[in-house]
Amino acid sequence: MEFSERLLERLKVAYTVGVLTGAGISAASGVPTFRGKDGLWNKYRPEELANFEAFQTNPKLVWEWYDWRRKLIQQVKPNLAHYALVDMERIFPEFAIITQNVDNLHQRAGNQHVIELHGNILRSKCSRCGKPYLQEFDVKQGIPTCPDCGGLIRPDVVWFGETLPENNLHQAQEFAMASEVFFAIGTSAVVEPAASLPYIAKGNGAYVVEINPEDTPLSDAADEHLKGPADQILPALVIELEKIR
Ligand code: NAD
Ligand code: ZN
Repeated sequence: MEFSERLLERLKVAYTVGVLTGAGISAASGVPTFRGKDGLWNKYRPEELANFEAFQTNPKLVWEWYDWRRKLIQQVKPNLAHYALVDMERIFPEFAIITQNVDNLHQRAGNQHVIELHGNILRSKCSRCGKPYLQEFDVKQGIPTCPDCGGLIRPDVVWFGETLPENNLHQAQEFAMASEVFFAIGTSAVVEPAASLPYIAKGNGAYVVEINPEDTPLSDAADEHLKGPADQILPALVIELEKIR
C-alpha cells in the first residue's frame, strides 16, 4: 500500500498526533455500527433506544438492548486497527485517541491515553444521583435501582440529546488544537460535537487524514481520504512509520 509523500513527511517529524475514532474501527471485530446495514435490533433503530425518553418509558427494553450489546462486545476482540494504534502511541511522543465508541476495545488493545466522549458500556450509573456502578447487573431479574437514592440505574453512555462529559470534551478539543496530524477513523462524521474535532484540528494547522471505506461530510475538507478499511490501512501505515521514525 502506498502513502503520499506529503503525509509521510508530516508523520516523520510529528510530535503530537490525535486520532478520532467511531464505530467503524470496531466493525472488523464484529461490533455492528449504527448506520450500517446491521444497525437494527429486534426491529428497533438505535435512535429509538439510545435516549432518555425511551429509558423512562420502557427501561426494560432499553436495558435488554444494552445487555445484548454488552455481551456481544465482551465476546469480541480488538482487531488489527486497534493494535496499530497501540504501535502509534509508542511512536509519537504525544498521542491520544478520542473515541465515540463505548466498547472499551482501545483500552483492551493496550492504548493508555483514551478520551471517551460517549461513555463506556461496561459501566453503569444512577439516572438520578449519578453514582457510578462498575459491577454487571442481571437485568433479567429486573431493572437495578440505586441503594443510595432509589433511582433507576442506567448504562453509563451518552444518549441522543444528552450533553457529553464536559471535561472529556474539553480535553479532546485541546488535543485536537495541539495535533500536527489528526486522523478521523471509522466515523460517519455527522454526530456533533465530535464531528467538529477534525475541523478544529485543521483550523489550528493539523494535517487531517480520514480513513473510511465510504465518503462522509468530512471527506472533501480532509487533506487526505484513505478510502478503505482501517484494519488494512493502519497496519500498513505502521510499517511505513517504523521505516521513517
Ligand atoms: P456510525 O455507525 O455512524 O458510522 C460508522 C462509519 O464507519 C461509517 O462511516 C462506515 O463507512 C465506517 N466504516 C465501516 N467499516 C469500516 C472499517 N472497516 N474501517 C473504517 N471505517 C469503517 O458510527 P459513529 O460515527 O461512531 O457514530 C455512531 C454513534 O454510535 C457513536 O456515537 C458511538 O458512540 C455509537 N456506537 C458505538 C459502537 C461501538 O462502541 N463499537 C458501535 C455502534 C455505535
Ligand atoms: Zn442514586
